[in-house]
Amino acid sequence: MNKKYTSDIEFDQQHIWHPYTSMTQPLPAYKVVKANGVRITLESGEQLIDGMASWWSVVHGYNHQAINRAMHQQIDQVSHVMFGGLTHQPAIDLCRKLVAMTPANLDKVFLADSGSVAVEVAIKMAIQYWHSKGKAQKNTLMTVKGGYHGDTFAAMSVCDPVNGMHQLFQGFMAKSVFAPQPKSQFHQCWDHAETEELEQLFAQHHQHLAAFIIEPIVQGAGGMRFYHPEYLKQCRLLCDKYDVLLIADEIATGFGRTGKLFAFEHAEISPDILCLGKALTGGYLTLAATLCTKAIADTISSGDAGVFMHGPTFMGNPLACSAANASLSLLAENQWQTQIIDIETCLQDLKSIANHDNVADVRVLGAIGVVETKQSVNTAAIQAHFVKMGVWIRPFGKLIYIMPPYVISKNDLQQLIDAVKQVVQYPDIWN
Ligand SMILES: *Cc1c(COP(=O)(O)O)cnc(C)c1O
Repeated sequence: MNKKYTSDIEFDQQHIWHPYTSMTQPLPAYKVVKANGVRITLESGEQLIDGMASWWSVVHGYNHQAINRAMHQQIDQVSHVMFGGLTHQPAIDLCRKLVAMTPANLDKVFLADSGSVAVEVAIKMAIQYWHSKGKAQKNTLMTVKGGYHGDTFAAMSVCDPVNGMHQLFQGFMAKSVFAPQPKSQFHQCWDHAETEELEQLFAQHHQHLAAFIIEPIVQGAGGMRFYHPEYLKQCRLLCDKYDVLLIADEIATGFGRTGKLFAFEHAEISPDILCLGKALTGGYLTLAATLCTKAIADTISSGDAGVFMHGPTFMGNPLACSAANASLSLLAENQWQTQIIDIETCLQDLKSIANHDNVADVRVLGAIGVVETKQSVNTAAIQAHFVKMGVWIRPFGKLIYIMPPYVISKNDLQQLIDAVKQVVQYPDIWN
């Protein structure tokens, strides 16, 4: 075929990788021309109500005046400048905010360029910390099964060993220690026996463990499961008892999504290292942050290297920082707590299909609603139904879930919920 005559969609299918897709049998991609508030407009003119917040990130909706304004102002000052030897107001303002809004012990900030990189940075911090303490043998990570921490190699080494496809990259990837997946659900009773095996693993491996890394309360991309806060509390206690650092990966859960500003607050604990990302810029640009304690920073700085060994080209990008500053201001102005409670109340309606033949489980926490089906859904088929219904919801495997922008109205949210309730009845989505 003459390349000149391929349509945009054909070109996209033939030449552009999308997340986790095949280049020979790509799933259809819908072409977006603009987005406003919670509405995404396709090239065809169809408008879709957004149920995904573009993967946890667009919390204030698309094309938000306040964030636009902040970025326009910044673009006229300076869009980017190297962070080595230079600094600027947007980064200083942002780090002030992050230090103020996180627990008191977390007061050193590393600005990274994506969630996965923030996880890499957290892991490097943990390893450099022990190295500087003369305990270089503490260079292994422990985590729980069913987790997701990103797609780069160190992050992948702590993703679920089966779903994370460790097999494929065996020999190239660090070997982590995996504890069983947390069992007790958020709203169920806590089973004291649950952390016995976890403690055994700490006892067995602690001499080699640099850090224990976990997604607080919500295991996101690894299965959209909500575990009991007591589990996280026990993780904190075991990390203290066995002298292992605790890394909280709040990249998905941070900034209010679960009903607390940070999900670890459900367990009334504080991590030693904290990863933030996704909603940080309100979904405008890629930016992430890794925070750590003074003790960790001081120890790293007193080690052989004397410096922390990381420094991306686009570190602390001013434009991204200005979006983050505007987004964090909106979070406070919009009273995110009320927004989340209102969404959580509406999402309870999903439970009306809990006993449906095709449904295994329905669960709701904060502004996250999950319908777990008994069989995997046909993503292309279900996607087409959703688009026809005027909603943007993208299921994976057995999970149909909604995590809308916080600014969604009751009516729009009800349309998302109704679409999910309807679609589980359609035979063609079950392959
Ligand atoms: C999305 C995600 C990441 C990776 O972030 P990217 O910006 O996609 O690299 C890491 N951890 C968790 C918990 C996430 O949800």
